[in-house]
Amino acid sequence: MRRFFVFALAALLLILAAGCQWLPGDIAAPPPTEPTATTAAPATTPTALTPPPRSYKGITEGDVLPGELTFYCDCAKCNGADCAGITADGTVLADLGPEDTPVAGANWLPLQSLVEVGGTVYRIADRGGPGLNRVGRLDIFTPEGHAAALRLGRVRDIEVRIIALGSAKK
Ligand SMILES: [Zn+2]
Repeated sequence: MRRFFVFALAALLLILAAGCQWLPGDIAAPPPTEPTATTAAPATTPTALTPPPRSYKGITEGDVLPGELTFYCDCAKCNGADCAGITADGTVLADLGPEDTPVAGANWLPLQSLVEVGGTVYRIADRGGPGLNRVGRLDIFTPEGHAAALRLGRVRDIEVRIIALGSAKK
């Protein structure tokens, strides 16, 4: 019985093998598939993941707030004798060059926040007296010195745009 099966199998294989040769050549190979018009795959440009705006004490990144500017320098009169020339975040004011982000003081924003006033971006690197507690109040560091700071005086009715809130806890 087994022998029969082996024979039958061998015969079947022979038929199949022969069958392949019987196929006419022109239909043996499937017609070449037309290269389908490749619809341009959507560009896989990695979309920059923009984090949602952060908030701090009711102030949200992107906010534009009414504000007021005063100006200070790195002298003892402006900073106090014991910390003259060094900001609350440890920036040595005298080391700031023209390529550095201008520095401002404010008490209502986390240190390292970035704000923009009149097209200039300032980094909140300093703290000051209670006058700087009010939202929108900025004390702008003036590298030109004390006389220059006094001359600039006080600028009211400005707009302060919150670019980024610093993550510093103090
Ligand atoms: Zn000064």
